[in-house]
Amino acid sequence: MEKINLLNLPTRIHEVTIDHRNHYYFKRDDETGFALGGNKTRKIEYFMKEIMDQGCDYVLTYGSLNSNHCRVVSAAAARFGLGCGIVTVGTEKEISFQGNDLMNSFAGCEYYFVDSVSKVGSTIDKTMNLLRSLGMKPYFIPGGGHGNCGTQAYVDAYKEILEFEQQSGIRMDYIFFSSGTGTTQAGLVAGKKLYGGEGRIVGISISRTTKHGIKPIFDSVNENLEPHGMQIGIDEIEFVDAFICGGYGKFDDDVVCTIRDVYRMNSCVLDPVYTGKAVTGMKKYLASHDVSDKNILFIHTGGTPVFFSMGNELNEVRTSIHTIEDGKINA
Ligand SMILES: *Cc1c(COP(=O)(O)O)cnc(C)c1O
Repeated sequence: MEKINLLNLPTRIHEVTIDHRNHYYFKRDDETGFALGGNKTRKIEYFMKEIMDQGCDYVLTYGSLNSNHCRVVSAAAARFGLGCGIVTVGTEKEISFQGNDLMNSFAGCEYYFVDSVSKVGSTIDKTMNLLRSLGMKPYFIPGGGHGNCGTQAYVDAYKEILEFEQQSGIRMDYIFFSSGTGTTQAGLVAGKKLYGGEGRIVGISISRTTKHGIKPIFDSVNENLEPHGMQIGIDEIEFVDAFICGGYGKFDDDVVCTIRDVYRMNSCVLDPVYTGKAVTGMKKYLASHDVSDKNILFIHTGGTPVFFSMGNELNEVRTSIHTIEDGKINA
């Protein structure tokens, strides 16, 4: 499969401090060097190749106003001079202009608002037809960059991890990351099947239960492996749904504390929807499985704009504010 090179790859892997039970490393996929990075930027390199090869002039996708995927799609469309539309549930009033939606606006994308999730599919069809009737050649990218383009992007990332291990002599015992649509996980699992390695791949679900989350991963892995004449069993996928905190976008105090502590100790920003939630889940998983003195890799899949757009919800960890009057500190 071919792609258009937009990123600075491989992304770096470096040691971080999380706690003293294990040795932790972050793979910095938040630093791919395209529109604030993240796993969606890896996926877009493959999608853009297909879009340009097919001579399309408009990209339509689906996601929330705060979606990292949509931000990357709108940035890529702008870079290549293509039109861009985002189908999203909600209303214009919900645009915050604080994170991903601000970047979408600067990229010049158009929104197609729908009032319920049940209308998304039909709105996508209608919009594609409308664009065609206007003489355009639109391309639809599934929400989250799901599909074999996205899977392949993380087969590549897996290869980077193996190369790092060979060069550094550091062997990862575990590979953690946050799992949403499961495309990232599918690529890593397919990569391990194809190229070997010892690291145990554990996806921390940020919204789906195992019942709903594992099958799309299984299907995507096998779609990717099929041309190689290989396949995996569903029991080869470790998808952990114990830390979803009530669903997509929901989080608890532990997540907020993780984000604060990781920032203090490593100057590295996590967000509450994906990476902060997954690092919190990873810590709890390792403690409950009694894992210690191991090499743990966490793939930082990006999401930096979400840290800012959800700042108000993170504010319980605000530093105390003082004023000084007459030589006294007032809290
Ligand atoms: C989309 C996203 C994920 C989840 O990736 P999937 O491939 O959909 O599982 C994880 N982290 C961040 C920051 C994301 O934007």
